[in-house]
Amino acid sequence: MASAPDPAALATALDTVADPSGGGGIVATGRAQPPRLADDDTASVIVDVADLDPAAREAMEAAATAALASVPGVLRARVLLTADRRERRLIVVGSGKGGVGKSTLSANLAIALARLGVSVGLVDADIYGPSQPRLLDAPERPFAEAQRLLPVETRYGVPMLSMGQLVEPGKALAWRGPMASSALGQLVDAKWEVDVLVVDLPPGTGDVQLSMIQKHRPAGAVIVSTPQDLALIDAARAISLFVDTGVPILGLVENMAGYVCPHCGEISDPFGHGGAEAEAARLGIPFLGRVPLDRAIREASDAGEPPAAGGGEAAAPFLAIAAALMERMPA
Ligand code: ADP
Repeated sequence: MASAPDPAALATALDTVADPSGGGGIVATGRAQPPRLADDDTASVIVDVADLDPAAREAMEAAATAALASVPGVLRARVLLTADRRERRLIVVGSGKGGVGKSTLSANLAIALARLGVSVGLVDADIYGPSQPRLLDAPERPFAEAQRLLPVETRYGVPMLSMGQLVEPGKALAWRGPMASSALGQLVDAKWEVDVLVVDLPPGTGDVQLSMIQKHRPAGAVIVSTPQDLALIDAARAISLFVDTGVPILGLVENMAGYVCPHCGEISDPFGHGGAEAEAARLGIPFLGRVPLDRAIREASDAGEPPAAGGGEAAAPFLAIAAALMERMPA
């Protein structure tokens, strides 16, 4: 009679199966639970496939079965696929170009959603300028458990993970496609315990956006634009990326719309009024609202005190946009 397989050998064999989301083998990433042995010759394992499409699930089952069966002494290999990981919806926030306030909007939108009772986390996928640790005043690095990152808690009820936490502060992120997309996978597939993830994308329509769409299938996209025409042309490009790849556009937000005078509070429109709303109507996408160009917003943001978390007037536009978004959020 053959001797019983070594349980450690089962885990080692299983870990040769690469996690399709990156980060190493399926044991190391926590996708596979520790394998078990029954009747001295039957190996079994539970593998979480919630984020995989049907073809990838099938491939995972075959690969895990073959890995277990390859261990000496294993006569039967059983792989149980589960998809009972809490179903998360990803809302990506994009813009055609940088500097339009996409990160500011992402942070404040997440906080406003939390204030409206949504269980929400924030992923900062902006490889060019990861700013969420500063915006949410949470500079600490995340810990990992079984190779999966644990989101950092913030003072504002929104757990967060940022590309900026994965590299040394101040180091330029000269990442090329595959590195950026594997880092993004680590952020999205972390141990989130939330229903909705707001994802602050890099500006434009590059590798990170494509990998986000292909691997993580967002439930919808929010586009941020300033009122200027040029920004709208850029925004239109970002919009068509999502439309062409079947990601529903949940709406357009106009940022820096109207200037709030710091002295008298009067609102003027240095860049004209209603451009983004008209553009949204022309493109047939919902308009979620506007945020004024307000020095108080920049000052509060720089100080790590997001305006949406405060009690004053500054929170109002973000709460209104969050409410409009909730109406359009896919069930
Ligand atoms: P992006 O993510 O699009 O590059 P940021 O969110 O980093 O843009 O914003 C760029 C700068 O503009 C930051 O200094 C931010 O504080 C400021 N900012 C963003 N929105 C507003 C606003 N509505 N009023 C005033 N300043 C703003």
